[in-house]
Amino acid sequence: MTADPNCIFCKIVAGEIPCFKLHEDAHTLAFMDINPANDGHALVVPKDHARDLYDISAESIAAVATSARRVARAVDLTVKPEGLNLVQCNGEAAGQSVPHFHMHVLPRTLNDELQMNWGLTPGDMAAVEGLAERIRANMDK
Ligand code: AMP
Ligand code: ZN
Repeated sequence: MTADPNCIFCKIVAGEIPCFKLHEDAHTLAFMDINPANDGHALVVPKDHARDLYDISAESIAAVATSARRVARAVDLTVKPEGLNLVQCNGEAAGQSVPHFHMHVLPRTLNDELQMNWGLTPGDMAAVEGLAERIRANMDK
């Protein structure tokens, strides 16, 4: 397992920085985004540090996709959005702000007018934590 000591998501994987955890297995970790674009916005990351799509191994991205599917189903059951995007950004121009591969699990509503450059607006942590509890309760239902 490779880790970058300066990487915020590696620190979350190592438990050095807290997160609202949704799911963990041998290869991936899923947790709530603390700047949610919409309620239930979550991230799935590989435990093995990889910068982006060009850097990640085939095995690692397959594990992320499998976890993202499970988390998305639990988010859908919990938040009941009208749609849901899996979004993954590579490079600054594509909106990547954290250089550790991650898949956004992003619930959508018909009129949320969310642009792909949604920016970072800090969420209400009590609300994010409450949603994390409810999503965890819906994992694998
Ligand atoms: P991107 O812009 O695609 O690189 O997405 C990075 C995401 O990571 C953003 O949506 C941030 O809100 C999120 N993020 C950054 N730091 C943390 C953190 N400590 N815990 C949870 N989410 C984070
Ligand atoms: Zn990392």
